[in-house]
This record gives sequence, structure tokens and C-alpha cells, in this order.
Amino acid sequence: MSVVKCGMCKVPMQGPANAKGSDILTCPKCGQQDTLETVQAEVVDYARHWMAEQADEVMREATRGNKYLTYKPGARSTKRHRYVLDM
Ligand SMILES: [Zn+2]
Repeated sequence: MSVVKCGMCKVPMQGPANAKGSDILTCPKCGQQDTLETVQAEVVDYARHWMAEQADEVMREATRGNKYLTYKPGARSTKRHRYVLDM
């Protein structure tokens, strides 16, 4: 199971055991807090970016030196994520 961390401090977020959507998760270091619902949405977005980056890497590797195939990764936003997954 992946750990949800504060995107700034890289420390695990803390909240009640078996937290539900409206429960608050707090970063023990900077005090940033949000409902589990919001944190989950941010983390899903983070995971999507992370996987796209991995895919880029694989494609770059797979098409390297191949004169018939070139790979140009699409433009992606470089926005900072307030919450990240430790993957
Ligand atoms: Zn923090």
C-alpha cells in the first residue's frame, strides 16, 4: 500500500484510522491540511503524471536508435502537487 505524503515536506500525512472522505488529513511538519477527498484527488493526479513520465521513459528507450520510429512526448504541465504518493 502506497503512503500519501505531503508534497512539500515528503512526510506521511496523518489522519484518523480508517479515514472517510470528509475526514481531515494533516501534514505533521507544515500543518497543511485537507479532507481525504481532496487529498485523494490530488494524489490521483500525481499518479497520472508519474505514470506518464514512466511511459515516456520506456518509449524513449524503445525508439532509441530506430530510424523508423521517433517518439516525442506530449507537453505536460509541471504543476506542483500538494500531496504525493510514495511509489
Ligand atoms: Zn508538509
